[in-house]
Amino acid sequence: MFEKILISQCLLGEKVRYDGEAKPLTHALMSLWQQQQRFIGICPEVAGGLSIPRIPAEINPQSGNVITQTGENVTNKFHYGARQALDICQKHHIRFALLKESSPSCGSSFIYDGSFSQRKIKGQGITSQLLTKAGVRIFSEHNLEELASLLDKNE
Ligand code: SF4
Repeated sequence: MFEKILISQCLLGEKVRYDGEAKPLTHALMSLWQQQQRFIGICPEVAGGLSIPRIPAEINPQSGNVITQTGENVTNKFHYGARQALDICQKHHIRFALLKESSPSCGSSFIYDGSFSQRKIKGQGITSQLLTKAGVRIFSEHNLEELASLLDKNE
């Protein structure tokens, strides 16, 4: 059996994003990993109880809270969804996650700066933060080859 990868459901083409759309990732490695049945998908925001569609949210860099564009504090839901993602990783002994860059849940190198003005800053989404603390390595749609080089290695 091949080593599993936790993946953002929107990258699998599922319409779970805040705007009701998907962000399907097309790549030869994606096709290979699909064929090998490596993926276990989750949308942490939906798992956390948020709807599709939903009001966009960003992390406030000062407080660390997640606030929607209309001012609602949805931090608890984001943390709950992150916990669901971690539970899946622990259950399936997952070491690697492939998560959508820049999302307030799934971003691994960049997130939006909390001002809803499309500006990005260095940082991780809530799910990526929790998984990283637990030792899961996070990759994004920008570094599939790096992930491929590490899969199935006992290190
Ligand atoms: S929370 Fe993650 S899986 Fe869900 S739509 Fe956003 S980027 Fe995709």
